Amino acid sequence: MRYVSTRGGVPKVGFDEVLLTGLAGDGGLYVPEKWPEIDLRKLGRSGEASYAEVAANVMMPFVKGSVIEPELFEITNAAYAGFSDPAVAPLVELAPNEWLLELFHGPTLSFKDYALQVVGPMLERVLNARSASATIVGATSGDTGSAAIEACKGREAMSIFVLHPKNRISDVQRRQMTTVTADNVFNIAIDGTFDDCQTLVKALFSNKSAREELQLSAINSINWARIIAQAVYYVSTSLVLGGPEKRAVYSVPTGNFGNVYAGYTAHCMGVPVECFVVGSNSNDILTRYFESGAMTAADVVPTLSPAMDIQISSNFERLLFEAYDRNSIAVAGLMASFKKDGQYTVAGEARSFIDSLFCGYRIDDKGALAVMRRIYEGTGKLIDPHTAVGIACGRQFSVQPTVPRVTIATAHPAKFTDAVQLATGVKPELPNTLSDLFERPENYVCLPNDIDVITDYIYSERPSP
Ligand SMILES: *Cc1c(COP(=O)(O)O)cnc(C)c1O
Repeated sequence: MRYVSTRGGVPKVGFDEVLLTGLAGDGGLYVPEKWPEIDLRKLGRSGEASYAEVAANVMMPFVKGSVIEPELFEITNAAYAGFSDPAVAPLVELAPNEWLLELFHGPTLSFKDYALQVVGPMLERVLNARSASATIVGATSGDTGSAAIEACKGREAMSIFVLHPKNRISDVQRRQMTTVTADNVFNIAIDGTFDDCQTLVKALFSNKSAREELQLSAINSINWARIIAQAVYYVSTSLVLGGPEKRAVYSVPTGNFGNVYAGYTAHCMGVPVECFVVGSNSNDILTRYFESGAMTAADVVPTLSPAMDIQISSNFERLLFEAYDRNSIAVAGLMASFKKDGQYTVAGEARSFIDSLFCGYRIDDKGALAVMRRIYEGTGKLIDPHTAVGIACGRQFSVQPTVPRVTIATAHPAKFTDAVQLATGVKPELPNTLSDLFERPENYVCLPNDIDVITDYIYSERPSP
């Protein structure tokens, strides 16, 4: 499989290159040259194939010709072996024909494990095949950092540095990162906000000599490999709910548009979909887009669902590329106007194309807390605030009761103890694998919001090449 950039300014490349570089050199995002189809009937009804087998089958067409191809099943098999639920991504019925797809059974309790547990070993293999190494640097507001660390720890070809805003992430989230003991893992608490952390990472990546000398790499949510690993659970869900004949509604608590775009990828491969509900908290740039056709930037406000406190949903560009019939000049034009004026408008056929499969709703913190409380009272189940946004937004979309509704449960309630307790009065318990999290020693440095200090630190700590 070859990949093209949504902005059309770079040559086609193979999967290995896409995995290593993430963002295309013209600022665009890589997408496959054409959509492969899978035969859901051949994949078998639920129970016939393991999650790891389905995963390898779904991802195979995308890695064809790459060094990953012969090892794909071995990778998925190892990646999901340690997940705490035998179904890996279990579908739980919340109310008649209303389902939760629980994606918090991986090592760090958010759906990000479902992608990163596969991407870590893929990256290692590509690096080894080239006798290369990489320094992975990222900023986290919570969930990405721990999932990335867990995916990279102990892998010799790479070291990973994660910046988090000091005292601004939850204790569980910090400890999930800082109690990892592998010597290729470095945690840095920055005196500043998440935006400061991101600005530092961007500054480092735009330093050409550092980029080359350190072999910098990112595993952020625009990396194509993450998208295909996430497409898998839409396929496995459809198999349970009667695909390819029966359509379902998928409600997705959305930040960077990676998860819901992975659903679209699964749809392009053959998963039948009634609608993707794009769920937002008070940071509702996407909801406003669906109402008006205009994507207009606004300031980020902090909410109880911090993983969705995002101003720009980067992966939306990939959907625009399809909506504009793969016209990269049109996409590059919209992105330039967003950069210049903080706004662009989608009209005509492109807008109808998106509206035919997607819709967007919002819910504020008060509404999310009310849903958490009602579900606890009705079912005894604790849900996390992101999942609550997904459920509340999904319920705003009206559809015949015979069509199954699926909300993607993106995090375990114990990751967001304060919000869950506020809503229900109950403190969610950490699963057994993490029950001693608060006894483990922490290991991290605190550094000022200063790019020179950060750069020096990375140079001095990374393993000598
Ligand atoms: C990252 C994250 C999201 C947002 O997912 P996107 O792919 O960025 O849309 C939602 N919920 C949780 C718990 C997350 O960690």
